Amino acid sequence: MANIEYNIPNKDGKPTEGGLIVVLGAGESGVGAAILAQLKGFEVFVSDSGSIAKNYKAELDEAGIPFEENNHSELKILTAIEVVKSPGIPEKAPIIKKLRENNISVISEIEFAGRYSDAKMICITGSNGKSTTTMLTYHTLRNAGLNVGLAGNIGKSFAKQVALEKFDYYVLEISSFMLDDMYKFKADIAVLLNITPDHLDRYEYKMENYADSKMRIIQNQTSNDVFIYNADDPETFKALERHEVRALSYSFSIQKTLDRGGFLNDNNINIYLNNNQNLTMSLAELALQGKHNIYNSMASGIIAKVLELRNESIRESMGSFRNIGHRLEHIARISGIDFINDSKATNVNSTWYALESMPGEVVLILGGVDKGNDYSILKDIVKSKVKAIICLGKDNKRIHEAFEDDIDVMVNTTSAAEAAQIAYHLAKKGDTVLLSPACASFDLFRNYEDRGNQFKEAVKEL
Ligand code: ADP
Repeated sequence: MANIEYNIPNKDGKPTEGGLIVVLGAGESGVGAAILAQLKGFEVFVSDSGSIAKNYKAELDEAGIPFEENNHSELKILTAIEVVKSPGIPEKAPIIKKLRENNISVISEIEFAGRYSDAKMICITGSNGKSTTTMLTYHTLRNAGLNVGLAGNIGKSFAKQVALEKFDYYVLEISSFMLDDMYKFKADIAVLLNITPDHLDRYEYKMENYADSKMRIIQNQTSNDVFIYNADDPETFKALERHEVRALSYSFSIQKTLDRGGFLNDNNINIYLNNNQNLTMSLAELALQGKHNIYNSMASGIIAKVLELRNESIRESMGSFRNIGHRLEHIARISGIDFINDSKATNVNSTWYALESMPGEVVLILGGVDKGNDYSILKDIVKSKVKAIICLGKDNKRIHEAFEDDIDVMVNTTSAAEAAQIAYHLAKKGDTVLLSPACASFDLFRNYEDRGNQFKEAVKEL
């Protein structure tokens, strides 16, 4: 997407006289953006093509912000000076096409709210590990006594916090959909964890388009800013060839030793920055285990040292962090079988890392809405670790095609309870039953949390 110059309101937050800001999508980010826009003196209108949750309607009512649901009043929307759009609305939605035709600026909540905050922005993106790394970083910064907020693709709306709080730092989880609508926003510290295929349906099935979207995390950065990336990730290197990095950069690796950044030495994580901000920490001390989490911990550790936090404080935080649910979450051990909920694994790469960290044989629960998955990446690890696949999705054809030559036992199920019961029968003492679906959940569940919760309930009933 081109970096178009729009006729946008002033950076200092002065309202454009009589200007209407339309917010499309009344979820957490949209309602927050509406509240901030109103506070800054704009006329505001919220429009959602679906129904709006009760709590958000109440919030809009309380603030006296007009809204509509199950409809987009095109004529009104096209009078906006600017539109703040929910990241869930795709470019191909008719209303977005109309806005483009009319050259009306469409931006993300982050872009909008960023104009009204002087806080230091620590922005974390990547195909996998965003939430974990964002939470770990927030935990570390807060424990160190910084006045820090948490927002983005996680928790409370960034815009609402900008409206109502006064933080010195924000740790923001940023998805590629958000990045697509960000133009002037600048990350003071940008982290790109990895680039592996995901959401390709929104990027014309072109990896390059998706990677370019991720690289927007460094747009507008200067030599005073910091960029942190994964030195083991080939897709990141490919993308870096197409994008100029102006910021001071640090990378992290578990495959090689680096002059600076994060790397492994025996069983220690080493963080070396060029300003003598160094940290060594043994892997055993880390609260987050698994290879993928070494990357996440290194990225967080680099951020902490860039901010010159004390080693003692970082060590304490990295040792005490408890990850949020649905990410390799251990549910129970029943008859010697471990049950793990990794419902948040919505792409092939995260499922690969989940399998990689499993100690013994696995009964794998896989499936859901396939976003253009390339299952060949999983073939070798499935062959070596998986004894049975339980498909949990409406259409499991592609999974059968991918693994029918490698796995003898493949069963179709249509509910978490059915999947848990069959997995329990197929597993033996010492095995692990792993829900790590590599797919989105919307065919059978409300979202990945609903899928994970239903699975947890089902396991508890066994
Ligand atoms: P995101 O917010 O990017 O979706 P999460 O931290 O919620 O990432 O983790 C999503 C899934 O990816 C989980 O299944 C988790 O175990 C796995 N995961 C976490 N970090 C990484 C990483 N660095 N590389 C690959 N997979 C990861």
